[in-house]
Order: sequence, then C-alpha cells, then structure tokens
Amino acid sequence: MSRIRTLYVATSNAGKVREMAPLARPLLEALRAADARLVARAAREAEETGETFAANAWIKAEALASELRAEGEADYAVLADDSGLSVEALGGRPGVHSARYAGPNASAEAHVQKLLAELGERDERSARFVCHLALLLADGLRFEASGECEGAISKSRHGDGGFGYDPVFRLVDGRTMAEIPAEEKNLVSHRGRAFAALAKKVR
Ligand code: IMP
Repeated sequence: MSRIRTLYVATSNAGKVREMAPLARPLLEALRAADARLVARAAREAEETGETFAANAWIKAEALASELRAEGEADYAVLADDSGLSVEALGGRPGVHSARYAGPNASAEAHVQKLLAELGERDERSARFVCHLALLLADGLRFEASGECEGAISKSRHGDGGFGYDPVFRLVDGRTMAEIPAEEKNLVSHRGRAFAALAKKVR
C-alpha cells in the first residue's frame, strides 16, 4: 500500500464529511494514514444510475479516481458512500432513490411527509437504513463494506437532531434517530457499522 496523504470523500456535501470524520479515524489508522486530510470532492460526472447502493458507491468512487488520475494526483485514496432508507411495506422503497423520493430538489421535510402519507395508518412499518462504502486506493487496491440499522417508521416526527429521515426512524428502543446524540448515532447507525466493517477489512 502506498502512503496516503489525502482521503477524498466523493461528495459535494461538506456536512457529510464532518459527520464522517470521527467515523473514518479507525479506517485511516488501518490504512496507516492517521494524518491524512479528509477532502470533500464530488466527481464532475457521476450519475447515480445503479440499482443498488453498492453500484452507486462504486460509480461515485471510480469517477472521482479517474479524475484524480487524469490530474496526475498520486498518494490518494477515494471513499464513496451511498446510503438510503428501505421500507418493508413499500417493497424496499425509497431505497437507492431516498435522496430524490419526493422530487430531485425536494427538502428532507418533503421526503418525510411523502413517506408518512404513503404509509398512512399501516401497522407494518419495519424499515432499515443501509450504507455501502467503496474505497479505492491509488495503487489499485479496492475494499468495500456495508452496514445496516434496523428500525421502524413512526407515525409522526420526534426529535430535532440528525438529518433526512431521522425524525421518523424509530430504533428498537423506541427513540428516533433524531432523539439520540450524534456519538450514539455513530455507534448504531448504518454508516457507523459500515465504517467499522471497512476498517476491519483493511486491517
Ligand atoms: P446519498 O447522499 O446519495 O447517499 O443519499 C442518502 C439519502 O438517504 C439522503 O436523502 C438521506 O436523507 C437518506 N439518509 C441516508 N442516511 C441517513 C441517515 O443517517 N439519516 C437520515 N437519512 C439518511
């Protein structure tokens, strides 16, 4: 493995990188790159046309890696994640379409509203968050891992933490993902689990 100076996170969302920073620490240690910088950078062209979280994560990772190669960049690693919510009663939807469920530019509020309307008073409300991580190193090595978090969709919003579908995603202990502190979310979340699994594979 060559020395990694920068871990490029394939996203234009700086907030996502902030949330990932503590989660990525064990991964960077496993890569022997504890002092590497984390930089948010989405590939210019990476259409998320895949039918699975894994396919979309690799589309984002490969598009960014090929840009970096074209720029002559060395000593890099690229990390991409694709995540979303899979609802049992909706046959797994919104799934890979979670970010555009209520429309390409809809707010998180609108996505949640559509979800609550679609489920209505239904009793069967099981759901899971899924996250797939794809890691590509400059020397061609590849690793991937996924993580899941089981829960259920509540009938109304609770809590003001987190983002996206968090206020209606109830964990097995009854609290929603928006009602738990960020550090606790990192321990139980799909993203936290995917990062832990990825660091284990790299080690
Ligand atoms: P991505 O950025 O393309 O992976 O899209 C992820 C989508 O799934 C976003 O629209 C989020 O609202 C939703 N999502 C992913 N992870 C979470 C989470 O931890 N909490 C709430 N919503 C999430």
